[in-house]
Amino acid sequence: MLGGTPEQCGRMLAPFLKKSGTPLAGFCSSEPGGSANAASPPPGEGVRTFAKLHGDRWVINGRKKWVSSATGWDRKGADILCVVCRTAPDAPPEKAISIIAVERPASGIVFERAIESVGHRAHLTPQFGLENVSAPRHNLLGEEGGGLALTAASFTGTAALVGIFGVALMRAAFDFALHFARTERRGGVHPIIEHQAVGYALADAKMTIEAARYLSWRACHAVDTQSPAADELAIQAKIYGSETAVRVIIDLMRVVGIDSYDHEAPLGRLLQDALALPIFDGGNIGVRRRQLHSMLKRPDYEPLLASGAA
Ligand SMILES: Cc1cc2nc3c(=O)[nH]c(=O)nc-3n(C[C@H](O)[C@H](O)[C@H](O)COP(=O)(O)OP(=O)(O)OC[C@H]3O[C@@H](n4cnc5c(N)ncnc54)[C@H](O)[C@@H]3O)c2cc1C
Repeated sequence: MLGGTPEQCGRMLAPFLKKSGTPLAGFCSSEPGGSANAASPPPGEGVRTFAKLHGDRWVINGRKKWVSSATGWDRKGADILCVVCRTAPDAPPEKAISIIAVERPASGIVFERAIESVGHRAHLTPQFGLENVSAPRHNLLGEEGGGLALTAASFTGTAALVGIFGVALMRAAFDFALHFARTERRGGVHPIIEHQAVGYALADAKMTIEAARYLSWRACHAVDTQSPAADELAIQAKIYGSETAVRVIIDLMRVVGIDSYDHEAPLGRLLQDALALPIFDGGNIGVRRRQLHSMLKRPDYEPLLASGAA
């Protein structure tokens, strides 16, 4: 939707707008060997998947890892794959990388393995090869060489959503811990919520959840309304929501105590899912460096823009 022409959007999005079927799509950026330095100038390799034009078709070769749903229901590929690849090997990174849409059926998608991940257990994140995968020339999305900017733009909306993922996990953990604290005496006289230390910990968790919730809502609203503050708010929601989710769930596990470590309680699984949030959708180290830090350095950076007061 960000890079496609009206013709491409009409053709490629059609299966996803039908009320029947179970189409899958994948945004293929990450590769074995890392993707944090995709924008690194030569001799850095950054993106190692290549596409060459043969007549009026792109031929793509490389390997990808961690791409949600990419190998589809049958390991032969999702209905549509947006493949981040190098189309001009010798050009500087801001002109070297493009995004090409590969539609099913496409031969040459080679399933290597399904990653046995710590959390997000119902989520297919395969490692796979692209071996002479071919797509028509007109399936290039956006400008040739404009892939890095398009990738960054694609991650803005998802950054705001990661904040919401964090809120959802914290909320589920809080509901469990609150119920536990109100109903469990753990052999003492009173329910443990009567103890000041427990009450304070719950209060701190709740304040943090509300702060993450409002920042993430505001970020999602800014993305939806295409506000000039969207980029900054989305990145902040991603970093704050993800890092607080890990911390708050651990704090709530301390409130519940040892029974939180039993998988009969939901907290362990919520933590396993939360652990992905600071490191997926762009690891927070890179998000701070590539996005927030570069934004703060820009001569035209306006600190009050994100507060809505500029
Ligand atoms: C459930 C799940 C779903 C995912 N879905 C997708 C998907 O749909 N599509 C997709 O493309 N990917 C997907 N991913 C992968 C993930 O989003 C990215 O691969 C990941 O965020 C990139 O992480 P990274 O920053 O750790 O990169 P890496 O390149 O692996 O870097 C690793 C570490 O190296 C250090 N580092 C590297 N370079 C620098 C530097 N220049 N300066 C400072 N430190 C540096 C940092 O400590 C960084 O954390 C998914 C992952 C998960 C867990």
